[in-house]
Amino acid sequence: MSQSTLPFLPFVKPEIDEETIQGVADVLRSGWITTGPQNQKFEAALSEYCGGRPVRTFNSGTATLEIGLRIAGVGEGDEVITTPASWVSTSNVIYEVGATPVFVDIDPATRNIDLDLLEEAITPRTKALIPVFLSGLPVDMDRLYAIARAHKLRVIEDAAQAFGATWNGERIGKLGDIVSFSFHANKNLSSIEGGALILNDEEEAVLAQKYRLQGVTRTGFDGIDCDLLGGKYNLTDVAARVGLGQLKHIERFTAQRKKLARAYFAGFEGGAAAKLGLGLPLADFENSNWHMFLVTLPPDKLSIDRAGFMGELKERGIGSGVHYPAIHLFTLYRSRGFREGMFPHAEHYGASTVTLPLFTQMNEGDVERVCRAANEICEQYGK
Ligand SMILES: *Cc1c(COP(=O)(O)O)cnc(C)c1O
Repeated sequence: MSQSTLPFLPFVKPEIDEETIQGVADVLRSGWITTGPQNQKFEAALSEYCGGRPVRTFNSGTATLEIGLRIAGVGEGDEVITTPASWVSTSNVIYEVGATPVFVDIDPATRNIDLDLLEEAITPRTKALIPVFLSGLPVDMDRLYAIARAHKLRVIEDAAQAFGATWNGERIGKLGDIVSFSFHANKNLSSIEGGALILNDEEEAVLAQKYRLQGVTRTGFDGIDCDLLGGKYNLTDVAARVGLGQLKHIERFTAQRKKLARAYFAGFEGGAAAKLGLGLPLADFENSNWHMFLVTLPPDKLSIDRAGFMGELKERGIGSGVHYPAIHLFTLYRSRGFREGMFPHAEHYGASTVTLPLFTQMNEGDVERVCRAANEICEQYGK
């Protein structure tokens, strides 16, 4: 039964309020549109949010990861341990700084790096860890940092999806070593594009600032010097104003996402999809910010493949996505020696995951509609 008479439900949609739109217009009229006062305010607000830690904004959550590695002193000859179940930028930045990514498979329950396998991947060349908090679910931070401390490793948290998430009641960003957030359009807090690094001290903040803009420092009133090779990664004030506008709503955003995630669990309970073995996320309502609702299809139980399943959802007016195919199977990574079979859980996850709609302006009725559609498809194509 097609339900396409209903409006199309995308899998993600940013919520920008009128006050923010007005604020952006004000910035555009102000005469200062690139990095300036709005960035200062945004950095201060983020710092306050992260317990007073030094914060620097960037133009993406990829730049933040790369600069985070540079600040941690990672470079040529070093190894960095991360997970293949992430957006490809997580490990591209490791190559970018001249180091080598070492992948560790995921725990199929959390879909995050398997901490039981982490220690055996550590070698004398290991310099840092990049844990990814997939869909905003943090890894076990106590265990992670115990391992990092024991082996004297730096941690650059890929918290791109984890703004608003917590660990034991503390905000992600408030604890830990270097924390990298992305403010890409689809993230829980957006500045259209953008990112931020949460740092340990002023020394790191100064380094971040240099890497952000050509390695340049001011010398007196009329001079500059360049004493390190930096890039061009600064955030515009228009973007910072959007981020500031979103930050006001972050608690409500997270609460609404949790509510929708609960509705998904209820909607799938006992239905055809559940009977076939549709894989649901870990039901963590303490720590996760529910950045996405990621399910895994049972490939042997369906007579259609993932693309077919997504097509059937689309027929019913429902958008979906894929987050993420296993990084090590991409052509670039294969050309550097990675092969199928190396990280079976990440491979299975990457080949069978589907991202269902979840954004703050959805309601529980929308979730019911998605669950009904998924159950219907599973009934029709189940075997
Ligand atoms: C979005 C994302 C990034 C990159 O952020 P950009 O702002 O798009 O550069 C990195 N890692 C993860 C896990 C992400 O979700």
